[in-house]
Amino acid sequence: MFDIGVNLTSTQFASDRQKVVKRARDAGVTGMLITGTNALESQHAQRLAEAQPDFCWSTAGIHPHHASEWSTEIASTLRRLAEKPEVVAIGECGLDFNRNLSAHEQQEYAFDAQLALAAELNMPVFLHCREAHARFAAVLAPWLSKLPGAVIHCFTGTRDELEACLAMGLSVGITGWVCDERRGLELREMLPLIPADRLLLETDAPYLLPRDMRPRPTSRRNEPCFLPHIVHQVATWRGENVDELATRIDQNARTLFRLA
Ligand SMILES: [Zn+2]
Repeated sequence: MFDIGVNLTSTQFASDRQKVVKRARDAGVTGMLITGTNALESQHAQRLAEAQPDFCWSTAGIHPHHASEWSTEIASTLRRLAEKPEVVAIGECGLDFNRNLSAHEQQEYAFDAQLALAAELNMPVFLHCREAHARFAAVLAPWLSKLPGAVIHCFTGTRDELEACLAMGLSVGITGWVCDERRGLELREMLPLIPADRLLLETDAPYLLPRDMRPRPTSRRNEPCFLPHIVHQVATWRGENVDELATRIDQNARTLFRLA
């Protein structure tokens, strides 16, 4: 089972990153993709991935929260990073009209520029969308035929938005958000709509600790070693065998990110 969303560069992991990776391996996680959210973190993510060959890979990109930092220097940093064998996707990039930490125009500009970069480099994209579906789809659509793959990570949208993302050919990343007994219910009911070959799972650690783990972890920090819990719950809600789903999401990640 492959975790496509681990924010291993987070300061919340500063004191025990190696142990976090080891715990994930021991828990049966077969690989993970470390998320790059700005230029510095993308460099850090690449170095962390490089240190864990054949287990960790990374993305290089500018999260919409950091879109106001976009510049030609950052574009060349991402381009240089993308040449490294561990860097397998551009992102995370996209639009976030929930927190609005960068202006909408800046977000759309940085998103479009990263899609252009991914198309130029023939790399898949790791996408983020919060409360911005219409503009997200409008910016993304012209690039889709030029991209080798795309996943909308931590999908939390509506049923109509899910159907639109599937119609655009996107793969869909589901986090432990779906385990939330209040805000995850709508998403839970949509799980069977996602075709088996386009489903990916992720912890988004250290964020989004699944709320239904028993016993509850003593810390609120999420870790990739909790991925098996998400796999188990999603398999239950999709009416699938847990081991088959675990194998399937590993295959899907390896296919999407073109890992050996
Ligand atoms: Zn995100």
